[in-house]
Amino acid sequence: MEPKNQVNERLPEAVQTGSDATTFEQLGVQPETLRALRKMGFSTPTPIQSRVMGPIMDGRDVIAKAPTGTGKTCAFGIPLIESLNEEMKDVQALILCPTRELCVQIAEDLRRLAMYRPAVRIAAIYGGQSMNTQVQALQKHPHIVVATPGRLLDHMSRRNIFIDNVYTAVLDEADEMLRMGFIRDVRKILDHTPADTQVLMFSATISRDVMDVAWEYQRHAVQIEVQAEGENRPHIRQIGIRSQGQQRLSDMEKIIDALELKRVIVFANMKATVRVLGERLKRHGRSCDYLNGDLPQGQRNKVMAGFKKGSFEILVATDVAARGIDVDDVEAVFNYDIPDENEYYLHRIGRTGRARRHGMAITFIGENDTFRMRDIRKYCRADIQMMTVGEDGTLTEAEEETEQADS
Ligand code: ADP
Ligand code: MG
Repeated sequence: MEPKNQVNERLPEAVQTGSDATTFEQLGVQPETLRALRKMGFSTPTPIQSRVMGPIMDGRDVIAKAPTGTGKTCAFGIPLIESLNEEMKDVQALILCPTRELCVQIAEDLRRLAMYRPAVRIAAIYGGQSMNTQVQALQKHPHIVVATPGRLLDHMSRRNIFIDNVYTAVLDEADEMLRMGFIRDVRKILDHTPADTQVLMFSATISRDVMDVAWEYQRHAVQIEVQAEGENRPHIRQIGIRSQGQQRLSDMEKIIDALELKRVIVFANMKATVRVLGERLKRHGRSCDYLNGDLPQGQRNKVMAGFKKGSFEILVATDVAARGIDVDDVEAVFNYDIPDENEYYLHRIGRTGRARRHGMAITFIGENDTFRMRDIRKYCRADIQMMTVGEDGTLTEAEEETEQADS
C-alpha cells in the first residue's frame, strides 16, 4: 500500500481560488434564474455556491469537498442551466449520481431552477424504471441528462443516447458513487465524452478512488473545500446513554426534570411504541402528545400545530410522522430507539440546535445497539459523548471511552 501522503501528491494541480460573493447577482446569475431562485426562497448563495459558481462559469474543472446539505445541487445546477444552448439538440450536460432517488431529486431541483426557461429539457435516467419511458425522454433531445451510471451505459450501448458532445460532466456524491462499485462504469462513461469536457466532482470525502478519477479526467482543477463549520453548523450536543427497556422512560423523565426541559421531541421507531410512550407520559402528568401514522391526518395536523404553538411540552413521534414538523426552538431530542436508518439520525437531531440556538440530542443505547451506534457514528461523523444519568437526573461523563467518528 502506498503511504497516504503520496496520494496527496497525485492530486491534480490544485489551485485554491473562489472568493465569497454575497449575492447571486454578483455571481452573474441571469434574471430568469434569479426569479426562479426567489420563487424557491433562496435569497443568498451558500458558501459552496459562492465559491464554485465562478470557476464553473469560467469553464474550469472543479473538485469540491463539502458535506451534505450545503447546497451542491444549485452550485453546479445554476451554471449548467445558465450556459445551455437551447437550440442544440445534443446532450450538453451530464450529471452522474449513485442512486435513483438522488437522480429524481436532482432532476426536480434543476427543473425548478429552469422554471422560467421552458425550452430547457432535462431527463432522468435510472435503474428500476422502464427503459421505454426513458427512451421516449431521450428522443426529445434533453439538454441535461441526470443518470445513474449503470442505466446510462445500458442506453449508450443501445445507442439511445450519445454523449460525444457533452460540455460538462458532473459527478455528484462522487465518493458514494465510486464506493458503490460504479468506478468502472464512471470511467467508461467519461471515456465517451470529449477529451476537453469540463469535469466537476462533488464529494463529501475525497477518497482514493475520487482522487484517481480526478487525476485521470481533470486538468488543473480548482479545489474547493467547505466545512460544515461556522454559521451552517448547528450547535448540537450529542450524548449517548446506556439504557434500555423500561429504564429509558425513567432516565428520560429524570433528565427532563433535572434540565427543566420544556420543549422536547422523543423519537421511537414504531407506531406502537410511540402510542404507549405518549400515553404513559401523559399518565405521569406530563404535558405531552404524540404523532404516529395511525392517527387521522386531521388529528395529526392538530397535534403538530399544538406543538408549534407550545400548547404542550413533549412530542413523541415516529420518523415518518415527524416529517414536515418545522419547529425551530426544540431544546432536546431524545432517541428512545436508535433509528433504523442512518440518515434518520441526522434528521432527528436536526430538530434541535436550529436557528443558531444550542440543542441537545440524547440517544439511548441498549446492549444490542453497539454496532448500529458505531455505524451511525461513522456514517454521520457524529461526535457522541457517552454519559450516565445520576439519581437526580444529572449527566456525568461515562467511564467508558467515547468513541470518535472514524474518518
Ligand atoms: P447537498 O447536495 O450539498 O446535500 P442540496 O443541494 O440538496 O445539498 O441542498 C440542501 C438544501 O438546501 C435543499 O433543501 C436546498 O433546497 C437548500 N438550498 C440550496 N441552496 C440554497 C440557498 N442558496 N439558500 C437556501 N436554501 C438553499
Ligand atoms: Mg447533493
